[in-house]
Amino acid sequence: MFNADVRTVDSTYPNAAAFAVTAGKFVALGSSGEIRDLAGKNTEMIDAGGVTVIPGLIDGHTHLVGGSALAVGVDLTAIEDKDEWLRIIRDKAQSLSDGAWILGGRWDHNLSDGILPTREMLDAVAPHNPVLLSDIDGHTSWASSLAIELAGITAASPVPPGGTIMLDPATGEPTGIFKEGAAALFRDAPGLAETLDVVAGIKAAVELANSYGITTVHDMSANFDQFLSVLDDGDLTLRVWQGALPARGGNAEPGEIFHEMARERDRVRQHVAANDQTVSMGVLFDIGYTKLTIDGVLSTHTALMKAPYSDDPDAEPEPFVTRDRLNAMIAAAHEHDFPVAVHAIGDEGVSWVLDGFAESRVRPNGIANRIEHIEVVTPDDVERFESLGITASMQPHHATCCVGNYVIDRIGRERLPNAYVWRQMLDGGVDLVLGSDWPTSPFNPLIQMADTIHRETRIDGVIRPWDDGNSLTFEEALFGYTQAGANMTSWAGEIGSITVGKWADFVVLDQRLPADTGRALEERQVTATYLAGRRVYPRE
Ligand SMILES: [Zn+2]
Repeated sequence: MFNADVRTVDSTYPNAAAFAVTAGKFVALGSSGEIRDLAGKNTEMIDAGGVTVIPGLIDGHTHLVGGSALAVGVDLTAIEDKDEWLRIIRDKAQSLSDGAWILGGRWDHNLSDGILPTREMLDAVAPHNPVLLSDIDGHTSWASSLAIELAGITAASPVPPGGTIMLDPATGEPTGIFKEGAAALFRDAPGLAETLDVVAGIKAAVELANSYGITTVHDMSANFDQFLSVLDDGDLTLRVWQGALPARGGNAEPGEIFHEMARERDRVRQHVAANDQTVSMGVLFDIGYTKLTIDGVLSTHTALMKAPYSDDPDAEPEPFVTRDRLNAMIAAAHEHDFPVAVHAIGDEGVSWVLDGFAESRVRPNGIANRIEHIEVVTPDDVERFESLGITASMQPHHATCCVGNYVIDRIGRERLPNAYVWRQMLDGGVDLVLGSDWPTSPFNPLIQMADTIHRETRIDGVIRPWDDGNSLTFEEALFGYTQAGANMTSWAGEIGSITVGKWADFVVLDQRLPADTGRALEERQVTATYLAGRRVYPRE
């Protein structure tokens, strides 16, 4: 590849105009002339036309299985215009055979006119396909008449406790909106289970990731065998550093849980090592760490806070596990060589996890432990991240979407300086890994990185930059979305930057980025994604 603006993310050689790839790896980096001189007669020469090329992007926090319904279906995240929702659904219907289900959603009527949509709207754009779309927080579903008919639902259907079938007051018929448990009425509808097939879902999620320039994810699931099937089919064009979820709850002894998980890891590693793609493309799947959870989220007052919630002082969130249990799980994980990631959103939850890591003080296989989300954290604890060597894994869009929507209500303006403190982390010498938490926020890393740069959110009804002191530069954001993620895996020396000797994972953008990259970054498109020198988007 030559005639490019290559941002290598390698501080020893930050910019180049060209590079050469042989057998899936970068073998030379330099000026266009230097690299062209290396070409043999069978060398494929790619003229980048002057656009920016960056390393393959690494998303530090995903739920590919959880997002698979979105990947196979439609994704209406953050779209305000209902006509645009319907256009996307119509396009999807036209790409499918009659009768195929359309799933996904993440629509938010509060972003548009605040009025719940109806089944008739879906019937008009997808008359021959059953449609079932969940809303942004997963509590409400929107179905078409065909979906309702296939599921055998009528106004008189008994609804599971807590659920509601919304009825049109004029006709007494379902409007198409099903709240909470009522969505379970669709579970046995013919054809739905096939659409939710996990292997097919992972494949769709992998394709979507590649289309956004993502070549590696730190994912979380317990679906190891389904990932291995995708690998065996040759469709795992994404390196998956898997965080194994232990069966939640239960009284199983932590030592036993991780003993069993270590056996699973051995089995998975043998399977992956025996696959030829490991030789030609490097490792594509590994159980790299484990993921635990200490608290909930701010939106529902379930995150553990040091002081009461500003808008509900009586809320008493319960930890998901006791401190003793958390510490025992961390110790057992370390004993079995699992680095640990813990979901902690409130400042008290973050403190508890830091305490647990302080007690254990191990870096399994040299890989740091990590805390996920860290939406509120005290300055003292930021220092402890550094002194204990804990990585901060944060998701930019959770800040830009939600501060004005509910975060200020929950924690008040006086605690706001402790929220989403990306810059404080970097300035404090803490390793910061960025990610999306897809499907809870946009998968597109260019949107997530732009969020760290402009840090805009709706406050007092106006979208404006908020607490500029914590925004990042493009270079910092790109590092957080590439090498920082690689550093949290056993592949730190093999991926994460455009460096001679590393796997040739790289992304071609549609334009050359300006020297001062601002929020326009989110308008850039990925035109090609390569994994180990092979083009995976658009698929060859
Ligand atoms: Zn998550």
